[in-house]
Amino acid sequence: MRPIQAIIKLDALRHNLAVAKSHAPHSKIMAVIKANGYGHGLLNVAQGLRTADGFAVLGIDEAITLRQAGFDQTLLLLEGLFAANELQSASQHNINFVVHCFQQIDMLEQAKLAHPVSVFLKMNTGMNRLGFVPADFACARQRLADCPNVVGITLMTHFATADEAQGVAAPFALFQQTTAALDYPKSVANSAAILRYPQTHADWVRPGIMLYGATPAAGTAASSFGLKPAMTLSSKIIAVQILRPGDSAGYGQLFTATRETRLSIVACGYADGYPRHAPNGTPIAVAGQVTQTLGRVSMDMLYADITHIPQATIGSAVELWGEQVSVDAVAEAAGTVGYELLCAVAPRVPLKVVA
Ligand SMILES: *Cc1c(COP(=O)(O)O)cnc(C)c1O
Repeated sequence: MRPIQAIIKLDALRHNLAVAKSHAPHSKIMAVIKANGYGHGLLNVAQGLRTADGFAVLGIDEAITLRQAGFDQTLLLLEGLFAANELQSASQHNINFVVHCFQQIDMLEQAKLAHPVSVFLKMNTGMNRLGFVPADFACARQRLADCPNVVGITLMTHFATADEAQGVAAPFALFQQTTAALDYPKSVANSAAILRYPQTHADWVRPGIMLYGATPAAGTAASSFGLKPAMTLSSKIIAVQILRPGDSAGYGQLFTATRETRLSIVACGYADGYPRHAPNGTPIAVAGQVTQTLGRVSMDMLYADITHIPQATIGSAVELWGEQVSVDAVAEAAGTVGYELLCAVAPRVPLKVVA
């Protein structure tokens, strides 16, 4: 078997959930486990976070999987329903969903349901992705309040810049103004807002990335928030090459040695989800020591410099990211964010859960 695996640490998930709770002690926690639990495995993550008050996913099939696995928390579909037939399943399995457009309200008004449903009514406060603009919000809210198929309403929005210097003041003020007279539970904060803007915590917080121990704020290490990585992507050295000055390695000869270089070949490539754009010098740990990648990442392999790690040889352990090298450090080198790398871990990489 290829030696690559992603080790999923339930104790780190539990720890990070406790960090979220300590920041937002008066809010319920809607753990965001979309994208297969940010690549950690839907049920693995739900198990690690089983004391959360709710789980947010995208597809109704994921929500039903959670219900069938015995999770009785609030379940929320973040993009709402995509077709009328999903409404019956949502009603039957008691699954909450976002309502972000009038077509979804039409669907609710026209349905005949066995049990009424609870919804999260979403306001567009400037991100311009999903949600009703403030001018339409009152109308949407009134139609839901009048709809016999709807038994519960929570008001929500999502911030575009909770992780940026400009913060959330303007969209949060808009949300507060628009909902001031409305006596419903509210939900606005993602990970960055949980960590940076306590005034936004409200009734439900929606942590995602922080639960996995990666940073929501590029430039600030996850460890500085007390978060622990929930995934270690590990593999092994499967070959070693000795390069003389002038020798090159890999597609496009992206790396050329200027001195004798001991180069290890690691069983991990972009088909495993490692970013192809990671340049020469991306951090990687071999045999317990942090070193750097060299050359272009190929589909199934990449190169790590072991010139200064004489004990490293075929079979030595490699950490692509995890405890020694944060996923955020790899992401930064590759010009992306930890979110993308975690979600991109390929289905062919086995997930190994440790308590
Ligand atoms: C993904 C998502 C979150 C979680 O965001 P993080 O930055 O990962 O904490 C919260 N709310 C909504 C609507 C989302 O789509």
